[in-house]
Amino acid sequence: MYSETAKNIRENLKADCSKCFGLCCTALNIVASSDFAINKPAETPCPNLQQDFRCKIHTDLRVQGFKGCTVFDCLGAGQKVSQYTFKGRSWREHSEVSKKMFSVFPVMEQLYEMIAFVAEALTYKISNSLRVKLSEQLDQLQGLTNLDADQLLALDMISCRQPVNALLLETSEYIRNELSANVFKIKKGKQYRGVDWVGKNLKGKDMRTTDLRGAYLIAADLHNADLRGVDLIGADLRDTNVRGANLSTSMFLTQMQINSAKGNSETKLPTYIQPPTHWLSGK
Ligand code: SF4
Repeated sequence: MYSETAKNIRENLKADCSKCFGLCCTALNIVASSDFAINKPAETPCPNLQQDFRCKIHTDLRVQGFKGCTVFDCLGAGQKVSQYTFKGRSWREHSEVSKKMFSVFPVMEQLYEMIAFVAEALTYKISNSLRVKLSEQLDQLQGLTNLDADQLLALDMISCRQPVNALLLETSEYIRNELSANVFKIKKGKQYRGVDWVGKNLKGKDMRTTDLRGAYLIAADLHNADLRGVDLIGADLRDTNVRGANLSTSMFLTQMQINSAKGNSETKLPTYIQPPTHWLSGK
Protein backbone atom coordinates (compact mmCIF):
# COMPACT_ATOMS: atom_id res chain seq x y z
CA MET A 1 0.00 0.00 0.00
CA TYR A 2 2.72 2.44 1.05
CA SER A 3 4.72 1.61 -2.08
CA GLU A 4 1.84 2.94 -4.25
CA THR A 5 1.80 6.19 -2.27
CA ALA A 6 5.58 6.43 -2.55
CA LYS A 7 5.38 5.77 -6.30
CA ASN A 8 2.89 8.65 -6.63
CA ILE A 9 5.12 10.92 -4.57
CA ARG A 10 8.16 10.04 -6.72
CA GLU A 11 6.32 10.44 -10.01
CA ASN A 12 4.77 13.77 -8.96
CA LEU A 13 8.08 15.41 -8.12
CA LYS A 14 8.13 17.59 -11.20
CA ALA A 15 9.06 21.19 -11.79
CA ASP A 16 6.19 23.51 -12.72
CA CYS A 17 7.95 26.62 -14.00
CA SER A 18 4.60 28.44 -14.37
CA LYS A 19 4.34 28.51 -10.56
CA CYS A 20 7.96 29.50 -9.90
CA PHE A 21 9.58 32.94 -9.85
CA GLY A 22 12.46 31.80 -12.08
CA LEU A 23 14.52 30.81 -9.06
CA CYS A 24 16.97 28.57 -10.92
CA CYS A 25 17.51 31.41 -13.42
CA THR A 26 18.20 33.89 -10.61
CA ALA A 27 19.41 32.39 -7.33
CA LEU A 28 22.28 30.24 -8.57
CA ASN A 29 25.84 31.24 -9.43
CA ILE A 30 26.71 29.97 -12.90
CA VAL A 31 30.15 30.11 -14.47
CA ALA A 32 30.46 30.37 -18.26
CA SER A 33 31.22 26.98 -19.86
CA SER A 34 30.11 24.75 -22.71
CA ASP A 35 26.86 24.37 -20.72
CA PHE A 36 26.12 28.06 -20.11
CA ALA A 37 27.23 30.80 -22.48
CA ILE A 38 27.74 33.59 -19.91
CA ASN A 39 28.84 34.20 -16.33
CA LYS A 40 25.84 34.76 -14.09
CA PRO A 41 26.45 35.70 -10.46
CA ALA A 42 24.21 34.30 -7.71
CA GLU A 43 21.09 36.32 -6.81
CA THR A 44 21.11 37.99 -10.23
CA PRO A 45 18.49 37.29 -12.89
CA CYS A 46 19.76 35.79 -16.13
CA PRO A 47 19.40 38.38 -18.95
CA ASN A 48 17.18 35.90 -20.79
CA LEU A 49 14.63 35.82 -17.96
CA GLN A 50 11.57 37.87 -18.89
CA GLN A 51 9.30 39.92 -16.62
CA ASP A 52 6.80 37.04 -16.50
CA PHE A 53 9.60 34.67 -15.32
CA ARG A 54 9.69 32.84 -18.64
CA CYS A 55 12.84 32.26 -20.62
CA LYS A 56 12.93 34.21 -23.89
CA ILE A 57 15.11 31.57 -25.59
CA HIS A 58 13.32 28.54 -24.13
CA THR A 59 12.95 26.70 -27.44
CA ASP A 60 16.48 27.47 -28.53
CA LEU A 61 18.55 26.95 -25.40
CA ARG A 62 20.91 24.28 -26.70
CA VAL A 63 21.78 26.00 -29.99
CA GLN A 64 22.39 29.29 -28.16
CA GLY A 65 24.92 27.70 -25.77
CA PHE A 66 22.66 27.19 -22.73
CA LYS A 67 22.64 23.38 -22.73
CA GLY A 68 22.85 23.31 -18.92
CA CYS A 69 19.38 24.88 -18.65
CA THR A 70 17.86 21.88 -20.45
CA VAL A 71 19.55 19.56 -17.96
CA PHE A 72 18.59 21.24 -14.67
CA ASP A 73 15.60 19.84 -12.76
CA CYS A 74 14.53 21.18 -9.34
CA LEU A 75 11.89 18.41 -8.92
CA GLY A 76 9.38 21.08 -7.87
CA ALA A 77 11.46 22.84 -5.21
CA GLY A 78 11.10 26.15 -7.10
CA GLN A 79 7.32 26.23 -6.97
CA LYS A 80 7.31 25.12 -3.32
CA VAL A 81 9.54 28.04 -2.32
CA SER A 82 7.62 30.50 -4.50
CA GLN A 83 4.08 29.50 -3.64
CA TYR A 84 4.31 27.92 -0.18
CA THR A 85 7.32 29.28 1.71
CA PHE A 86 6.91 32.81 0.33
CA LYS A 87 3.15 32.58 -0.27
CA GLY A 88 3.22 33.78 -3.87
CA ARG A 89 5.23 36.96 -3.16
CA SER A 90 7.78 37.34 -5.95
CA TRP A 91 11.25 38.78 -5.51
CA ARG A 92 10.45 41.33 -8.22
CA GLU A 93 7.53 42.86 -6.33
CA HIS A 94 8.89 42.24 -2.84
CA SER A 95 12.61 42.94 -3.04
CA GLU A 96 12.79 42.78 0.77
CA VAL A 97 12.39 38.96 0.62
CA SER A 98 14.59 38.33 -2.40
CA LYS A 99 17.83 37.50 -0.59
CA LYS A 100 16.11 35.09 1.76
CA MET A 101 14.15 33.48 -1.08
CA PHE A 102 17.32 32.89 -3.11
CA SER A 103 19.04 31.32 -0.08
CA VAL A 104 16.10 29.04 0.71
CA PHE A 105 15.91 27.66 -2.84
CA PRO A 106 19.07 25.45 -2.70
CA VAL A 107 18.00 24.15 0.73
CA MET A 108 14.59 23.14 -0.64
CA GLU A 109 16.24 21.61 -3.68
CA GLN A 110 18.32 19.32 -1.46
CA LEU A 111 15.26 18.31 0.56
CA TYR A 112 13.35 17.49 -2.64
CA GLU A 113 16.23 15.41 -3.95
CA MET A 114 16.31 13.39 -0.71
CA ILE A 115 12.51 12.95 -0.82
CA ALA A 116 12.81 11.61 -4.38
CA PHE A 117 15.39 9.01 -3.37
CA VAL A 118 13.59 7.91 -0.21
CA ALA A 119 10.24 7.68 -2.04
CA GLU A 120 11.92 5.60 -4.76
CA ALA A 121 13.44 3.29 -2.11
CA LEU A 122 9.92 2.75 -0.72
CA THR A 123 8.68 1.53 -4.12
CA TYR A 124 10.94 -1.54 -3.87
CA LYS A 125 10.15 -4.87 -2.24
CA ILE A 126 12.13 -4.41 0.94
CA SER A 127 12.04 -5.76 4.50
CA ASN A 128 9.42 -4.43 6.88
CA SER A 129 12.03 -2.96 9.20
CA LEU A 130 13.63 -1.03 6.34
CA ARG A 131 10.21 0.09 5.13
CA VAL A 132 9.38 1.50 8.56
CA LYS A 133 12.66 3.42 8.76
CA LEU A 134 12.26 4.81 5.21
CA SER A 135 8.64 5.79 5.85
CA GLU A 136 9.62 7.70 8.98
CA GLN A 137 12.41 9.41 7.06
CA LEU A 138 10.06 10.36 4.23
CA ASP A 139 7.53 11.87 6.66
CA GLN A 140 10.31 13.81 8.37
CA LEU A 141 11.69 15.20 5.10
CA GLN A 142 8.24 16.18 3.87
CA GLY A 143 7.65 17.95 7.18
CA LEU A 144 10.88 19.91 6.77
CA THR A 145 9.70 21.32 3.41
CA ASN A 146 6.85 23.02 5.29
CA LEU A 147 9.11 24.97 7.63
CA ASP A 148 9.26 28.74 7.29
CA ALA A 149 12.16 30.45 5.57
CA ASP A 150 14.19 31.12 8.74
CA GLN A 151 13.75 27.55 9.95
CA LEU A 152 14.81 26.19 6.56
CA LEU A 153 17.93 28.35 6.57
CA ALA A 154 18.82 27.10 10.05
CA LEU A 155 18.78 23.42 8.97
CA ASP A 156 22.04 21.50 9.16
CA MET A 157 21.92 19.77 5.78
CA ILE A 158 24.85 17.47 6.57
CA SER A 159 22.95 16.08 9.56
CA CYS A 160 19.82 15.76 7.40
CA ARG A 161 21.72 13.81 4.75
CA GLN A 162 23.51 11.31 6.98
CA PRO A 163 20.54 9.09 7.96
CA VAL A 164 19.14 9.33 4.43
CA ASN A 165 22.43 8.16 2.90
CA ALA A 166 22.63 5.25 5.34
CA LEU A 167 19.10 4.11 4.48
CA LEU A 168 19.67 4.43 0.73
CA LEU A 169 22.83 2.33 1.01
CA GLU A 170 20.95 -0.31 2.99
CA THR A 171 18.19 -0.32 0.33
CA SER A 172 20.71 -0.59 -2.49
CA GLU A 173 22.44 -3.60 -0.90
CA TYR A 174 19.12 -5.29 -0.16
CA ILE A 175 17.68 -4.83 -3.65
CA ARG A 176 20.84 -5.69 -5.55
CA ASN A 177 21.14 -8.90 -3.49
CA GLU A 178 17.50 -9.79 -4.17
CA LEU A 179 17.67 -9.04 -7.89
CA SER A 180 20.91 -10.97 -8.35
CA ALA A 181 19.82 -14.05 -6.42
CA ASN A 182 16.12 -14.27 -7.22
CA VAL A 183 15.42 -12.39 -10.44
CA PHE A 184 18.50 -12.41 -12.66
CA LYS A 185 20.10 -15.47 -11.00
CA ILE A 186 23.58 -14.06 -11.40
CA LYS A 187 26.46 -13.21 -9.09
CA LYS A 188 25.88 -9.75 -7.58
CA GLY A 189 27.53 -6.97 -9.59
CA LYS A 190 30.80 -5.58 -8.25
CA GLN A 191 31.28 -2.39 -6.28
CA TYR A 192 32.81 0.44 -8.29
CA ARG A 193 31.89 3.43 -6.13
CA GLY A 194 33.43 6.68 -7.35
CA VAL A 195 35.38 4.89 -10.09
CA ASP A 196 36.92 7.04 -12.85
CA TRP A 197 35.60 5.56 -16.08
CA VAL A 198 35.63 8.80 -18.06
CA GLY A 199 35.45 7.93 -21.78
CA LYS A 200 35.61 4.17 -21.07
CA ASN A 201 34.26 1.71 -23.61
CA LEU A 202 31.53 -0.32 -21.88
CA LYS A 203 29.51 -0.91 -25.01
CA GLY A 204 27.04 -3.79 -24.70
CA LYS A 205 28.36 -4.79 -21.24
CA ASP A 206 26.21 -6.76 -18.82
CA MET A 207 26.51 -4.61 -15.70
CA ARG A 208 23.40 -5.76 -13.86
CA THR A 209 23.33 -5.02 -10.09
CA THR A 210 26.72 -3.25 -10.16
CA ASP A 211 27.32 -0.52 -7.58
CA LEU A 212 28.24 2.63 -9.52
CA ARG A 213 27.49 5.16 -6.78
CA GLY A 214 29.28 8.42 -7.55
CA ALA A 215 31.08 6.91 -10.58
CA TYR A 216 32.58 9.25 -13.18
CA LEU A 217 31.09 8.03 -16.45
CA ILE A 218 31.52 11.25 -18.41
CA ALA A 219 31.50 10.47 -22.17
CA ALA A 220 31.74 6.73 -21.42
CA ASP A 221 30.22 4.44 -24.04
CA LEU A 222 27.36 2.45 -22.50
CA HIS A 223 25.64 1.88 -25.83
CA ASN A 224 23.32 -1.17 -25.48
CA ALA A 225 24.67 -1.89 -21.97
CA ASP A 226 22.44 -3.71 -19.49
CA LEU A 227 22.20 -1.47 -16.41
CA ARG A 228 19.23 -3.07 -14.69
CA GLY A 229 19.50 -3.05 -10.92
CA VAL A 230 22.58 -0.80 -11.05
CA ASP A 231 22.88 1.81 -8.29
CA LEU A 232 23.65 5.08 -10.08
CA ILE A 233 23.17 7.55 -7.25
CA GLY A 234 25.41 10.56 -7.83
CA ALA A 235 27.04 9.05 -10.94
CA ASP A 236 28.22 11.65 -13.46
CA LEU A 237 26.55 10.82 -16.78
CA ARG A 238 27.45 13.95 -18.72
CA ASP A 239 27.65 13.05 -22.42
CA THR A 240 27.56 9.35 -21.52
CA ASN A 241 26.32 7.32 -24.47
CA VAL A 242 23.27 5.41 -23.20
CA ARG A 243 21.73 4.83 -26.64
CA GLY A 244 19.93 1.49 -26.56
CA ALA A 245 20.96 0.92 -22.92
CA ASN A 246 18.59 -0.72 -20.47
CA LEU A 247 18.21 1.53 -17.42
CA SER A 248 14.61 0.47 -16.75
CA THR A 249 15.35 -0.73 -13.20
CA SER A 250 18.50 1.28 -12.49
CA MET A 251 18.34 2.62 -8.96
CA PHE A 252 18.38 6.25 -7.85
CA LEU A 253 18.69 7.62 -11.36
CA THR A 254 17.57 11.23 -11.74
CA GLN A 255 16.08 13.24 -14.57
CA MET A 256 19.11 15.56 -14.42
CA GLN A 257 21.51 12.65 -14.98
CA ILE A 258 19.46 11.49 -17.95
CA ASN A 259 19.12 15.01 -19.36
CA SER A 260 22.90 15.28 -19.39
CA ALA A 261 23.45 11.91 -21.10
CA LYS A 262 23.12 11.00 -24.77
CA GLY A 263 20.31 8.55 -25.44
CA ASN A 264 17.74 7.70 -28.04
CA SER A 265 14.28 6.19 -28.45
CA GLU A 266 15.80 2.75 -27.76
CA THR A 267 17.03 3.71 -24.29
CA LYS A 268 14.88 2.07 -21.61
CA LEU A 269 14.21 4.33 -18.60
CA PRO A 270 12.42 3.99 -15.23
CA THR A 271 8.76 5.10 -15.33
CA TYR A 272 9.45 8.29 -13.35
CA ILE A 273 11.98 9.55 -15.91
CA GLN A 274 11.04 11.09 -19.24
CA PRO A 275 13.24 10.83 -22.33
CA PRO A 276 14.59 14.38 -22.90
CA THR A 277 13.20 16.10 -25.98
CA HIS A 278 16.74 16.84 -27.19
CA TRP A 279 17.44 13.10 -27.48
CA LEU A 280 14.77 12.87 -30.15
CA SER A 281 15.29 16.25 -31.82
CA GLY A 282 19.04 15.60 -32.18
CA LYS A 283 19.90 19.16 -30.95
S1 SF4 B 1 18.86 30.95 -20.40
FE1 SF4 B 1 16.69 30.85 -19.88
S2 SF4 B 1 16.42 28.92 -18.72
FE2 SF4 B 1 18.62 29.42 -18.75
S3 SF4 B 1 18.99 30.58 -16.84
FE3 SF4 B 1 18.58 32.08 -18.48
S4 SF4 B 1 16.38 32.48 -18.35
FE4 SF4 B 1 16.78 30.58 -17.22
